[in-house]
Amino acid sequence: MMKFKNITVAGSGVLGTQIAFQIAFKGFHVTVYDINDEAIAKAKIKMAGLEQTYKDEVDKAEINFDRSTAGLSYNTNLLPGLNKKVSDSIDQSKHDVTSTLGRIDYATDLKSAVVHTDLVIEAIPEVVKIKHDFYKQLAAVAPQKTIFTTNSSTLVPSMFAADTGRPSKFLALHFANEIWKNNTAEIMAHSETDPEVFKQVIEFARAIGMVPIPVQKEQSGYILNSILVPFLDAAEMLYLEGIGDPETIDKTWMLATGAPQGPFGILDVVGITTAYNIIENYAATTGNHKYDQLASLLKINFIDQGKLGVSSGEGFYHY
Ligand code: NAD
Repeated sequence: MMKFKNITVAGSGVLGTQIAFQIAFKGFHVTVYDINDEAIAKAKIKMAGLEQTYKDEVDKAEINFDRSTAGLSYNTNLLPGLNKKVSDSIDQSKHDVTSTLGRIDYATDLKSAVVHTDLVIEAIPEVVKIKHDFYKQLAAVAPQKTIFTTNSSTLVPSMFAADTGRPSKFLALHFANEIWKNNTAEIMAHSETDPEVFKQVIEFARAIGMVPIPVQKEQSGYILNSILVPFLDAAEMLYLEGIGDPETIDKTWMLATGAPQGPFGILDVVGITTAYNIIENYAATTGNHKYDQLASLLKINFIDQGKLGVSSGEGFYHY
């Protein structure tokens, strides 16, 4: 039986809003926590955008359902969990979208954000100090039963386990961007995670329409980002070195491999702030000055100019 009813998502940026919307879409109550009213106001705008995205996906599902009943091919690239419902009840799926926002609350006070929560999903910036501070504050106010998970892209749970005050109830639950179609959930324990808690989080991932990917050994970047981050870094380095501009690099990759998107298109979806934070962490841990140069390039030419990627309407491309 599903043990979790109330979920808190901490951090309402690119990924936090997607995670919260998907969980609420699947019927759970979600509290979204962020640091101030301005961040929450931005989150509400993102949520309205997600509602529209999910409605559009339902419409596509209906069209594909019609096609499949007419004996035409059936497109499975739809909302996770919706595929099943398409064959059962399209109306119910539409209702699930329109009722989703009603299952989401917002909070800027951490204690009230977690007072009733069974599971916290942390999706705050990929900055070591911010995460350390957050887990210490969270440990002080969350009920002892509450399980904590991190959506960190590259930082491993053992880095923060001591801060949580409950290492056995702490692990990673990592989602991919554009969660409604890219529905992997990488679940990764650290050495002290309770195996029972690991199982409960796998079950939860399934309940919210994800395909659970248990990662058996602690690894920075899990499976996905162990492949994706070096790929994106390589493209950014080609740009830094003046070997090619983003369009040329993307075009080369897409034409030569048939991929639907190139690395700079992906970076715009990820968000340039998160890409910058990852590069900054690498600069600090490797001492490689090329990462410092790359971080400066992203900060001066993009972040400082409000070009944050798809979420701000402009990054390497216009949206
Ligand atoms: P983001 O910059 O879009 O959003 C971060 C949010 O956290 C902001 O709303 C910010 O106000 C809030 N925040 C800052 N400090 C906070 C605190 N102390 N408590 C609560 N909220 C706080 O970042 P993002 O891209 O959504 O990434 C969030 C996490 O998810 C990172 O660890 C990142 O590595 C990971 N992640 C990102 C992606 C992606 O594609 N963007 C994919 C998977 C995982």
